[in-house]
Order: sequence, then structure tokens, then C-alpha cells
Amino acid sequence: RLYNEVIELKGNIRVFCRCRPLNHDEVTKGSTSVVDFESSQENELKIIGSDSSKKQFKFDHIFRPEDNQEAVFAQTLPLVVSVLDGFNVCIFAYGQTGTGKTFTMEGTSENRGVNYRTLEQLFKVSQERSEIMKYELFVSMLEVYNEKIRDLLVEDTEQQPTKKLEIKQSAEGTQEVPGLSEVAVFKTDEVWEILKSGSRVRSVGSTNANELSSRSHCLLRVTVRGENLVNGQRTRSHLWLVDLAGSERVGKIEVEGERLKESQFINKSLSALGDVISALASKTSHIPYRNSKLTHILQSSLGGDCKTLMFVQISPSSSDLGETICSLNFASRVR
Ligand code: ADP
Ligand code: MG
Repeated sequence: RLYNEVIELKGNIRVFCRCRPLNHDEVTKGSTSVVDFESSQENELKIIGSDSSKKQFKFDHIFRPEDNQEAVFAQTLPLVVSVLDGFNVCIFAYGQTGTGKTFTMEGTSENRGVNYRTLEQLFKVSQERSEIMKYELFVSMLEVYNEKIRDLLVEDTEQQPTKKLEIKQSAEGTQEVPGLSEVAVFKTDEVWEILKSGSRVRSVGSTNANELSSRSHCLLRVTVRGENLVNGQRTRSHLWLVDLAGSERVGKIEVEGERLKESQFINKSLSALGDVISALASKTSHIPYRNSKLTHILQSSLGGDCKTLMFVQISPSSSDLGETICSLNFASRVR
């Protein structure tokens, strides 16, 4: 099965939009949904009550509030499996805090997200191909916070603080993070615990887990080493699954000290990501990878014949209208 054939027809950059359901709080406060899925084409949505000039947005796919994790993963599957064919792949979840980025990527124990389902499928397809291909899978998890890189698969303690990681270019010209831990994974059962331990380390040092995690980027890297048992050809490819920092603009009152620095770093890296993807989409020759740690780490996996998918996560609530428009505009820019 060549999953890649499906992808070639559609190009290398795709944008999916996912709208979460209106939550209890919003309903109680009398907020209503401003997202209209019915009045347009299947892959278009309309924003009601927006005074912005552009109200209609088109995507490669739109997930509605009632669409579950299975439905989302069904559309993502061909892309993730192409890593087994030797392609580098990046998947991002972009959006305002509270719109479901972590729900889509990480998910919950009952509703597992793209990260877990991806590894599950990689094991399954590796098994199906075991007569012609031998695969080895490794995972790494890292966080980019204030332009600093932190390993999430080692415990950070006072006695033994995790070392600061830097990006280095290898002799082959690929971007590497020397010292980043890499864990070999052999079966689906052990994966959920590894992913959970990474997200636990991510939230250490913050009183409110959701607070800090909304201001850092969390990157899960799956490395696939393949060996063709017929002709001996070897491949190494990366699949990156990225839960981005919240894209919301912080209010004027909050913006001072540490918070100001953080929000500047987030703005800078998210706009650098937007710049890179739109440069790739418009086939510009200069791609500004070096403008942020995020895009620099991903350099070897963005562009060329690499595959990119962006989930633009939105809230349906009238109270989030402004941020929703911003996210949709960002998405239109990269598409
Ligand atoms: P973010 O990571 O973007 O800040 P979260 O993933 O933490 O947002 O989601 C915020 C809340 O909304 C969580 O309680 C999450 O479980 C819930 N949620 C998000 N998306 C969905 C969805 N599609 N269906 C049901 N609940 C969702
Ligand atoms: Mg989150």
C-alpha cells in the first residue's frame, strides 16, 4: 500500500480546521455559536456576526464539533503512515488556548489523540510489511519555552537539572539536537505511558498545568529507521507532532515582566512558523527557518518533499470571535 499516492494528488501542505463544541460555561453565560457549517460547501465555513471583510474560509477538511477523535485520525492516517515510506512529516495544532490543541494531539485516556493513534498505526503497518521491511521506532519529546529547548523524557530535578539543548547542523546538513533523549519503542502498550510521562515533565514547575503548557510548544518526534530486506536500502525519517503555544494575544494589563517576554517569544515563533509555511506554499526560494528555534529544529522536516499538516483549532463561541478570526486568517495565509 503506497499511502503516498493519495498525498501526491493533494500537495505537500494541508490545513484542517477543527471546531470544538460549545462548553458548559459558554452556554451558561449565554454565548452562542458563530460558526456556520451549513451555508457553504463541505470544506468551507462562515463566521456569523463578524465585521471583518472576510467571513468565509476554505480548508482541506473541516471537523465539526460532533466529529470525534476517530474521524479526525481517519483523515490524518495517510500522512502519518508516509513516514514509513521515508518521508519527513510535520503536524501542528495551532490556535487560541482552550480550543482543543492538546485534545487533538494528546487527547485523554478515553479519547486518545493523534499522537497515540499514530504510533499504534505505525506498529500495525510495520507488522503488515514485515516480510519486506524491517522498521525501528524511536520517540523523543521536547519543549520550546522562551526560545529554550528542554528534554521532556528526562526528569528535571534540582540535584540534576536537565541540560540546556541546542540545535546543531550535522555533516549531512540536517538539524540535530545533540543530547536529546531518544527512546526505542516496540509496542503500542508502552507508548501511552511514555507520552504521559513527557507531558507530566512539561507541567512541572507550574502551579497550573494548563497555564504553562499554553505558553510553550510541545514537540513529539518519532524517528523511523527502515531497512528494505529485499535490496538492503536503509532510510531514516522523522515525524513531528507539535502542540503549539496558544496563539491568543494577551491583554494589555497582563503584559509586563515575565509574561511580556513569554508572549513576545510566542508571537515571534508563531509568526516565524507562518512565514516558513507560506514561503513554502508560494515556492519562494528563501525560507526563513532561522528566525525561531521552532522552525530551526524542524528545518529538515519542512519543505522539499516533506509533508505538512496544520490543524487550526477554533472555538465556536461568540465570546471568542476576535481570536477565531485571527486564527482563521493565519490559516488562510499558510494555505
Ligand atoms: P488547548 O490545548 O488548545 O488549550 P485543550 O485541548 O486543553 O485546549 O481543550 C480545552 C478543553 O476543551 C478540554 O477540557 C478538552 O477536553 C475540551 N475539548 C477540546 N476539544 C474538544 C472536542 N473536540 N470535543 C470535546 N471536548 C473538547
Ligand atoms: Mg494545551
